[in-house]
Amino acid sequence: MSGRVSRNYQERRIGSTCKIHGNKSEENLYKEGTIPETSSIRLLTSFEAVMAISTKVCSHLENLQIIRSDIYQCDECVALGDTWVHLRICQTCGGVHCCDSSKNKHATKHFLRSGHPVVISAEPGESWAWCYQDNTFTNY
Ligand SMILES: [Zn+2]
Ligand SMILES: [Zn+2]
Ligand SMILES: [Zn+2]
Repeated sequence: MSGRVSRNYQERRIGSTCKIHGNKSEENLYKEGTIPETSSIRLLTSFEAVMAISTKVCSHLENLQIIRSDIYQCDECVALGDTWVHLRICQTCGGVHCCDSSKNKHATKHFLRSGHPVVISAEPGESWAWCYQDNTFTNY
């Protein structure tokens, strides 16, 4: 009997710190058996947050018209005499720049300088786009 009392106390304590679910309605849900007593409101909330992030695609990626390039080098790295790891193609101007794994991160610098938000991978066999402005990702 004492275990039951302490569990009730804990449920009420979690409910009182939850900003989404009202304390009273949450208690009613437990009583009606809508939510199993073992389920955690905190887990449900974080799961919903993850789903919202992974399914969100910004307007830039939604309306994407893929721009490709015959250039397969980072001209800015070549000018510096440096090498790079992977290449990205700007989907606003078609410029080819090196990725964030590369020493010079020219694709990121190009976004910061120009405001052109979206790049695609220039690597063979890769078909994804990334929006710097919204931190969103999509496969095409
Ligand atoms: Zn975007
Ligand atoms: Zn570069
Ligand atoms: Zn650009």
